[in-house]
Amino acid sequence: MTRPARVTIDLAALQHNFSRVKEIAPGRKIMAVVKADAYGHGLARVARSLNSADAFGVACLEEAEELRAAGIDNRIVLLEGPYSAEELLRADFLNLDVVIHHESQLDMLEQVTLKKALQVWLKVDTGMHRLGFEPDRISKVWQRLQTSSNIDKDIVLMTHLATANELQNDMVTRQLENFSAITKAINAEKSIANSAAIVGYPQSHADWLRPGLMLYGVSPQLNCSASDHDLKPVMSLRSELISVKALKKGEPVGYGADWRCPSDTRIGIVAAGYGDGFPRHARSGTPALVNGKRASIIGKSSMDMLTVDLSAQAEAKVGDPVELWGANLAIEEVAMYAETIPYELLCGVHKRLTFEEING
Ligand SMILES: *Cc1c(COP(=O)(O)O)cnc(C)c1O
Repeated sequence: MTRPARVTIDLAALQHNFSRVKEIAPGRKIMAVVKADAYGHGLARVARSLNSADAFGVACLEEAEELRAAGIDNRIVLLEGPYSAEELLRADFLNLDVVIHHESQLDMLEQVTLKKALQVWLKVDTGMHRLGFEPDRISKVWQRLQTSSNIDKDIVLMTHLATANELQNDMVTRQLENFSAITKAINAEKSIANSAAIVGYPQSHADWLRPGLMLYGVSPQLNCSASDHDLKPVMSLRSELISVKALKKGEPVGYGADWRCPSDTRIGIVAAGYGDGFPRHARSGTPALVNGKRASIIGKSSMDMLTVDLSAQAEAKVGDPVELWGANLAIEEVAMYAETIPYELLCGVHKRLTFEEING
């Protein structure tokens, strides 16, 4: 028998969420963002399932290599561009698009000899101040790009928003105005919107959408649930009870004996812990579903196990199913208890878990 801790990936939910992007922003091209192993869901698995995407966005060459090796022939965009000149040669060979966000990459691009002109996405820093050229440099950079035979003339202009997960946010308005002022006179395709902007800022949709989180069925807007946007969770993290005991008031549970029963308590041990990607710092009271009913996690998770309070479930027994997040328990809520964001929980699921696909 294998360890019961497992991740279920619901491919029908993934496709449903992809269609939701098209419903919310009809007629736009879609770059499905699949960096970080498709937010923990499995890079090739997700790309195969979303093969009608106009492009895939990845963070590095290794991820692009994996997609090409899996037979994916859609456009693939290196979102942080090349990290070295050698990577440009490899991007040329693998037929990848590259984001150019810094002078150093522009120099590299001008100095290498490529077999054909690369597709370039020119990134403008409209205020997030992470990647991108300063607005007043854009027209010069644009001209330089036009004169290099290494660069395809159909360049896409892009920017990234810092605060789109809040509605009616002033900084979003300013970034959109900046981008429009800088790019107005340039005849090129444009791309602004991540998931939060797709859902919250229709004026940001432009030519190319760049959804990540929403594809995986998680709400990109603060204080909203996935179902508010008709999104369906794709990943469920599940396991089983592997031990059940009745403890007396005052008895400790787990390492350090930090947590003690406030009264006589029935507890259950679940086979899942931080070694699987369940956050150790999720506080006591974090919900888990035992037999579909809410129970509270008590104490801190250990590497392979965590503990739930079964006081309200006298009938719970070894082998009963436990959901830690997913189809029936919002990852947004678990993230709140762990003082993090759903992105981090998704990306953190460990590869030692058994992955199974459903509804494929
Ligand atoms: C990760 C990323 C996205 C997707 O963001 P979500 O919030 O997951 O939708 C879009 N664009 C860029 C440049 C990114 O790095």
